[in-house]
Amino acid sequence: MAGERILLVEDGADVRHFLAESVLQPAGYDVLTAADGVEGFTLARDLQPDLVIVDYLMPRQDGLEMLAALRNANFERPIILMTAEGSEALAVHALRLGVSDYLIKPFNPDDLLTAVDRVLREHWTRQITRNVPAQLLGANLQMELRLRELDTLVEIGKRVTSLLDLQSVLNQVIGAAVHLSHAEHGMLLLLDESTRELYLYASTDPAQDVTGAFRLPVADSLAGRVVRTCRPLVLTSEDLHKIKTDYLVYSLVYVPLVLQQKVIGVLGVTNREHRQEFEPHTLQLLSVLADFTAIAIDNARLYAATEHERDTLNTIMRDTEDAIIVVDPRDHILLCNPAACKVFNLGQENYQGRLLSDVIQHQAVLGLFSKGGQGRRGRNGEISVDNGQRTLNAQMSVVQGVGKIAVMQDITYLKELDRIKSEFVTTVSHDLRSPLTAILSYVELVERSGPLNEAQAQFIGRIHTSVQSITVLISDLLELGKIEAGFDKDREPVQLDVIIRQVVEAQRQLWEAKEQDLLVQLPGDLPLLFGNPLRLRQMVSNLMENAIKYTPARGRIRVSVGMDSDFVVLRVADTGIGIPQKDQPYIFDKFYRSDQAIDEFEGTGLGLSIVKGIVEQHGGRIWVDSHPGKGTVFTVMLPCYDQEST
Ligand code: ADP
Repeated sequence: MAGERILLVEDGADVRHFLAESVLQPAGYDVLTAADGVEGFTLARDLQPDLVIVDYLMPRQDGLEMLAALRNANFERPIILMTAEGSEALAVHALRLGVSDYLIKPFNPDDLLTAVDRVLREHWTRQITRNVPAQLLGANLQMELRLRELDTLVEIGKRVTSLLDLQSVLNQVIGAAVHLSHAEHGMLLLLDESTRELYLYASTDPAQDVTGAFRLPVADSLAGRVVRTCRPLVLTSEDLHKIKTDYLVYSLVYVPLVLQQKVIGVLGVTNREHRQEFEPHTLQLLSVLADFTAIAIDNARLYAATEHERDTLNTIMRDTEDAIIVVDPRDHILLCNPAACKVFNLGQENYQGRLLSDVIQHQAVLGLFSKGGQGRRGRNGEISVDNGQRTLNAQMSVVQGVGKIAVMQDITYLKELDRIKSEFVTTVSHDLRSPLTAILSYVELVERSGPLNEAQAQFIGRIHTSVQSITVLISDLLELGKIEAGFDKDREPVQLDVIIRQVVEAQRQLWEAKEQDLLVQLPGDLPLLFGNPLRLRQMVSNLMENAIKYTPARGRIRVSVGMDSDFVVLRVADTGIGIPQKDQPYIFDKFYRSDQAIDEFEGTGLGLSIVKGIVEQHGGRIWVDSHPGKGTVFTVMLPCYDQEST
């Protein structure tokens, strides 16, 4: 504040000039001065300045004498006393005479200005208050109360919407409800959708049971009415209302907690000791509070559900026996579960955020992740650990927005079973060979040992055919056993085009008999393969035999070879019966045959297993594309002969 007129009464000329000209006037005050109490009294009485600053010790009349004279003359403006004496008696005396402030010399100019400002402000406030009608003051008081209530509401709103623990949220809410409504008690009921009951979740009344055992039916209770109608309820009366067994109240306000247009509970305040009504705006305040509360409950529930899910997931990750590694798109580890740490001999430290290749050096694992990222579908493969003692079947998937997830399952026992089974089959096949050869020889001897009647000749013919097909089956089994055991380790540079031409010639009778249109497309400069020529011939032969067998007469067969970076790509395509989608994943398994193949064609179900075994022994891959009724394409990729690396 500035612009007010101040009378400064000070006998010391230097101090008077300094305070008037260097302190008060620069601060914007209009300053009158007097050199003693007598002069000061006259000026104050006649000119009625807004404030008087008076020194204590002065000639003729001291500050207190002047003050007393002014009070006698009904001077009501504020007065500040300056004194070099800081005695308590003087201070008490001065305050009794109505001094507004008391400055002990020497003081800082700022102290003077602060005192002046405060004293003037207080004076004006008193003046205004004195002149303002009582009604206005009442309204002002109400306004202040409302503002304080709003402040409380905003504050509680901020607090509860940031809390994530449901119990704390609700305790805070009922505390605020009681405070804002000046109620005796507050309570919060939540709706159990499954039973259509309200159960008491929080209450400020220790007599109420908040264990969840106490329930009110929505269909038949006061609180239930709020849920049913989605409207607040206000009850006031001279008499007590029964809101539940043994719980009587004089007045209550219930407001619904609404979330996404559905009532999820009821917030209530009650007066049960005194006949006291709620103020009209209580309903409004509680409704706002209820809106915050519904959001806060939703937040807390969502948070609890997320926490629960995270805990469940953590437990699964921790307890599963499968090794699981998750990396982000930049190959930084997001998760490495305890099973993975154990398999790859890692400590139990936290690997989150570290680059995968810094943590795991296993080439097969790194290869799985690096190649897997190129496609959307991921890939799978086998990973050998513990110096080949154990085998893991790894499935890598790409998850958009997360990264890559590898799940590795220990299949050591399955591999062992497979090995034992193959060994058994090979042994049995081998042992069956000699008796079969004997049967065949004796069948031939029977034919030579004398004339046979027609029926006998027919039976002998059937025995012959059956023994032949068992022999083929056994040869296939033995072949497969050898391939799987990796016995054919002999490798040499091989020309695939030459092999293809030989097979085409060898099978000429077969495809010509069915008048099939067989086309072979071979590029002129086909690179060499490095492999076992007999096995590679067997591979081409099996694929072509199938194409001829499963393609009807006059159908088309295309055998082509191309290049894809360092790989030779062989394709055998036909326009035959095709393979149903459901059978495609299994056709490379031993003895697997489609239903149509079983019904209409001869076969052992071992040809493709042999082909797959040969392809894998040569470091290649094979897959099938087929459409039932339209045809089938088998594609084989084999690495080219790299002279430097062999
Ligand atoms: P099979 O002795 O039955 O021919 P394979 O192992 O060679 O045994 O083939 C397994 C199964 O795959 C066959 O029974 C047949 O159902 C299917 N199959 C293989 N090649 C073809 C093809 N070119 N066209 C249609 N089906 C085929």
